[in-house]
Amino acid sequence: PGAERVIDRDRLRLLTGRERALFAERNPRSADAYARAGHLFGRVPMTWMNKSAAGYPVYVDRARGARLSDVDGHEYVDFCLGDTAAMAGHSPAPVVEAVTRRLGELGGASTMLPTEDAAVVGAELSRRFGVPEWSFALTATDANRWAIRLLRAVTGRSRILVNSYCYHGSVDESLIVVGPDGRPRSREGNVGAPSDVTLTSRVAEFNDLDGLARELAHGDVAAVLMEPALTNIGIVLPEPGYLEGVRALTREHGTYLINDETHTFSAGPGGATAAWGLEPDVVTIGKAIGGGVPVGAYGMSAELAADLLGRGDLDLIDMGGVGGTLAGNPVSMAATRATLEEVLTEAAFAGMIEVATGFADGVRKIIDRYALPWSVSRLGARVEYRFASPAPRNGTASAASADGELEDYLHTYLLNRGILLTPFHNMALMCPATTPEDVARHHEVFDAALGELTRDAS
Ligand code: PMP
Repeated sequence: PGAERVIDRDRLRLLTGRERALFAERNPRSADAYARAGHLFGRVPMTWMNKSAAGYPVYVDRARGARLSDVDGHEYVDFCLGDTAAMAGHSPAPVVEAVTRRLGELGGASTMLPTEDAAVVGAELSRRFGVPEWSFALTATDANRWAIRLLRAVTGRSRILVNSYCYHGSVDESLIVVGPDGRPRSREGNVGAPSDVTLTSRVAEFNDLDGLARELAHGDVAAVLMEPALTNIGIVLPEPGYLEGVRALTREHGTYLINDETHTFSAGPGGATAAWGLEPDVVTIGKAIGGGVPVGAYGMSAELAADLLGRGDLDLIDMGGVGGTLAGNPVSMAATRATLEEVLTEAAFAGMIEVATGFADGVRKIIDRYALPWSVSRLGARVEYRFASPAPRNGTASAASADGELEDYLHTYLLNRGILLTPFHNMALMCPATTPEDVARHHEVFDAALGELTRDAS
């Protein structure tokens, strides 16, 4: 065992510059498309699409299974998969068929009337996640927003508790972190907050039961909204006993527990909730269950549903603040039914998890060979490496281990050689179509990237 390697920053910057120049050379059509988008705010359909290590985004031409190609004719192995929205793979045949039939033969994309698919989806989500009554949104963000409103209403409590450096969508209540002084504060960059987030929310570090107990003791927390493992600040896995402790404390304090399974769905067919035997009151989810078509969903316990439906003062039918015109639309429901019944099946998850295990093992070996003080975490079909070892145990520590320069280099290097990682982190997700050969290709390029970075370095 040798000394841990220190990255030569001058060399890193030099290589990143070289890779960006190579990217510009290889992607003139994407550059052109970007230049012509002057009537888009920030030149992109949605400002997040400017998150590009290479300088500008690649423009998509086609996407199928685990592959994506751009307008300059390059093909990529896609480990980003729409940051989980395409965990079923791009345009899986059963989803294409179901949606095409719904739009074409049957017709009716937006009717504000139920189709029979929705009840089938509700039953399947109940079987998988354990909570028996479901409702739909179009995004996971809205599923979380509406769940929060319902739980505020039913408890009469004003606050929501989240983990520091969580992500649950653009949900006002969730943009809170534990500051360096240990006190709660607004997350940096919080855009146009409607009110001071410390008045609507409480925050505790992930894996910190004492902190959670202290915050819940105020008696004003309607719900804890959490991912069973953090996935948006690297993967931060729960330590033994932590999730049991969360459940015990929330019960003790009369606080509802929401598991946001939007990303942790990668743990298995019933997400982390089923994989780890969790007992949340509410499960929220979005993205992948629609096979690429917009959908969000939240499920709740029978008691909670009965309490809510029994409340004559809550307007759940019209403009009371929960619901949306397009939620539960026939296309989303057809896509979700096909995804759950035919694509993200138990057998598919078993294969995805096996491929992801190979991904994680390979990355670990390469990192060790270069003596880099990094760590690799896996959550079912999702793998992420972090520039810290051992792996950070909470969101604040994980945020502190971010290294933008290193990320930019690795992402651009990989992109130039046909590998797409999630722009927001070093996350690689497997879909049913991802093969061990795809993983081997990643490892070959990743190895080469580290080889060039560490050559001649001490
Ligand atoms: N919850 C979690 C855990 C997420 O990771 C995300 C998005 N990354 C969301 C909710 C929000 O999803 P959307 O942007 O599709 O609303």
